[in-house]
Amino acid sequence: MLDILRRIVQEVNLASNLEQALNIIVKRVKSFMKVDVCSVFLINEHDNEYVLMATDGLNPEAVGKVRMSDKVGLVSLVGKRAEAINIADAIKNPRYQHFPEVIEEAFHGFLGVPIIHQRKVLGVLVIQSREVQKFSEDNETFLITVAAQLAAAIVHAEASGGISGLKQDAIKTDNKTKPIHGLPGAPGVAMGTAVVIYPPADIDAIPDKHHSNVEKEIELFDTAVESVVKDITELSERLKDVLPEEDRALFDVYLLMLNSQAISGTTRDRIREGNWAPGALRQTIQEHEKVFHEMEDSYLRERADDVRDLGHRILKYLQDESLEKIEFPENTVLVGEDISASMLAEVPREKLIGVVSVRGSRTSHVAILARAMSISTVMGATNLPVARIDGRTIIADGYSGRVFISPSEEVISEFQQLIDEEAALSDELMELRDLPAQTEDGIAISLLVNSGLLSDITPSLQSGAEGIGLYRTEFPFMERQTFPSEEEQRSIYRQVLESFHPRPVTLRTLDIGGDKTLPYFPIEEDNPFLGWRGIRVTLDHPEIFLVQVRAMIRASLGLNNLKILLPMISNINELNEAQGLIHQAYGELLEEGEKVIMPEVGVMIEVPSAVYQAGNLARRVDFLSIGTNDLTQYLLAVDRNNARVASLYDSLHPAVIRAILQVVESARVHNTPISVCGEMAGDPVAALLLLAMGIDSLSMSVSSLPRVKWVIRNTTRERARQILSEVLMLEDAAGIRKYLNETFEEAGMGGLVRAGN
Ligand code: PEP
Ligand code: MG
Repeated sequence: MLDILRRIVQEVNLASNLEQALNIIVKRVKSFMKVDVCSVFLINEHDNEYVLMATDGLNPEAVGKVRMSDKVGLVSLVGKRAEAINIADAIKNPRYQHFPEVIEEAFHGFLGVPIIHQRKVLGVLVIQSREVQKFSEDNETFLITVAAQLAAAIVHAEASGGISGLKQDAIKTDNKTKPIHGLPGAPGVAMGTAVVIYPPADIDAIPDKHHSNVEKEIELFDTAVESVVKDITELSERLKDVLPEEDRALFDVYLLMLNSQAISGTTRDRIREGNWAPGALRQTIQEHEKVFHEMEDSYLRERADDVRDLGHRILKYLQDESLEKIEFPENTVLVGEDISASMLAEVPREKLIGVVSVRGSRTSHVAILARAMSISTVMGATNLPVARIDGRTIIADGYSGRVFISPSEEVISEFQQLIDEEAALSDELMELRDLPAQTEDGIAISLLVNSGLLSDITPSLQSGAEGIGLYRTEFPFMERQTFPSEEEQRSIYRQVLESFHPRPVTLRTLDIGGDKTLPYFPIEEDNPFLGWRGIRVTLDHPEIFLVQVRAMIRASLGLNNLKILLPMISNINELNEAQGLIHQAYGELLEEGEKVIMPEVGVMIEVPSAVYQAGNLARRVDFLSIGTNDLTQYLLAVDRNNARVASLYDSLHPAVIRAILQVVESARVHNTPISVCGEMAGDPVAALLLLAMGIDSLSMSVSSLPRVKWVIRNTTRERARQILSEVLMLEDAAGIRKYLNETFEEAGMGGLVRAGN
């Protein structure tokens, strides 16, 4: 059963559009379940009707014509109840609706299951039998499982515009292109042309692309194949003395495959049909792989890996030979399975406006770089049909994490308006650069930046920030092959401290683990966010911690603007131990004759236990800094990098707001300065609440700073406090966000919050 299901899903995922995908499903399900009919109905939201979209068993002419309102018919009842309906004789059921185009009197047994994606009913999958019979429970569970898999394929095809190619425009969309949901990576809205970029030799990530010169593409392909033939022949020769004849026979099979019509011929045909050589090769390889996978014989099944290996070899040469370097259009939105920081660097800066990556999260290196460069970015867009979107118009909404592919006119004009408003606003905001972040009634709050790369120093300085509130030191560690030496670290930290001097710079000690691992120090755990992370790692490795702290203190020599921040503290002991090590490092440096001074030391409040012990922590340290990214994740039990639960992740959740209030009150008792350095600090509506609570400083990505400053300069502490007291009476994050957005709109600050709603 599982095997069949896997095969159907594989085939469906290879389908080039929704129509093909639905036809594969109805055919395979009908034949596997040995039923007389299998059909798919999809809901047309525009008219609230269920439309027959594919069938094997009913009159094919009825596809696109049979429509039933949500008030009548068994199919719509399945959708309405969002549960399976299994009836022995459908014709006798009062809900039964007859359609003359279908001629279905003969079918009695009816089993319909809803197709649901993220709580929404998209349609109904139905099987029918001539016999009067109730389908078995096994049939029911199988169909439910197929429908669950089908849901994702529909969303995929719909998002890539596949639905518009369906018969007779059977489904009218309501002119609103449906977005794909990812995670906000860097704020801003980018509307431009998608340029798909793929890692070298990753065949599955190759997009389809039209070419203009058949001869040239075929020549590229043939030369690549010849090079692979040569490599394999040489390899076989070289292994003559090591491998017996029969083992080397595999190479002959490779050579045969390479010269076959099946691989080379089919790929050439595809090139002639218009796809470029790498895209045509991908289609051929995936198709053959599927055929081999489906074979009963296990030896033959394994040949699928050989086909893939050959595909990779050809592709590598194709990529080397490809004379055509990617031409980046104006307004490029870079799209890929796993966009890396180096890929980003390949695009001329003036042409790059956005990034969309299937994998990764806000904390990925590329997202941090994009934030520093002010490039709107969406990460973790898991449902993105990468292979089908090269060259299409795309909108990346880096505020909300939504991506629109080939958006409708209506969506384009909505976003264009937003982009225009943003441009006007940012000109206005630039003028605030050198003005203080002070409310109308004279309350000042320090605005600092979060940083982690030397490349963000310049934009940070230009933003008018009063210092660095969080420097994530793990990034220099990620870029190397081994732990950086004390001197290497000192030199990096020195550059940061020097550029901001005399303004303060808060260097955070290494916060690896969770989603940040070092290539030379792998941490593999089932539950990494609850595992060996941050201070837990460095306390277990004092040799790493001591080197880092020594480097930090030495870097501040003569500047004395360093503050050290400890991540992931969850109990007092950890703080005591860390402080002990910092004092040890400081003492050693003094003994060595360095004229250093002891820096201020603070802890991050980002674990719920630290919220309840904030007072005990506050009295032991020089400052506290609330890490709302992790605090939200741990308080709400929502993985901050998981797109599936992204809608549950909101720092405006009342529990998070109350936790912050409690920390502020504890800090006040001990007169300990308190800042917020999570993303929440850069959200203008949230910043207003933090101001009202009495937070001393806010540290955020550089691109958020001007907006937050604008909000602060256009309000009074009193007004902010009134808003906070209203918010404290609300019971859920959505309600709070709605209230704050409305309040901003009323105060004429709508431009600051509109994006992303
Ligand atoms: C946080 O958790 O809010 C924080 C600032 O740290 P990071 O995002 O690096 O985990
Ligand atoms: Mg954190």
